[in-house]
Amino acid sequence: MDEIIRILDENLIYYRHEKLCDEINIYVCNKESSGICPYCGTKSEKTHSTYNKKYLSLNIGKVKIRVILINRKLFCFNERCNHLTFAQNVDKKHDFIIRTEKFAEEFKKLCRNNILLQDCCSYRT
Ligand SMILES: [Zn+2]
Repeated sequence: MDEIIRILDENLIYYRHEKLCDEINIYVCNKESSGICPYCGTKSEKTHSTYNKKYLSLNIGKVKIRVILINRKLFCFNERCNHLTFAQNVDKKHDFIIRTEKFAEEFKKLCRNNILLQDCCSYRT
């Protein structure tokens, strides 16, 4: 799973997934724990909190795949910055559509070969 997540973005790492009847939610996070405050440019490694952000949603056959980014909110310690926290930024790559297609292809292969995903009740290729 980690490998196919990296198709979308090499900075993303697989965290866990949950399989509901005809939905698979894949949780990913940024491999970097630090980020640059977009308001003042200061680097921070101190996490304030995390929140779930929709990264990608697509249908493969009858199955709805959601990639959910567990995004970090980081503290900005620059006293002159008027923002206490900022969200770590994960930009979608310029070739995101191509990456998404490749991801879908690899995901189909994974479902065919992975017994845990195979039994998803409505999955048919
Ligand atoms: Zn700042």
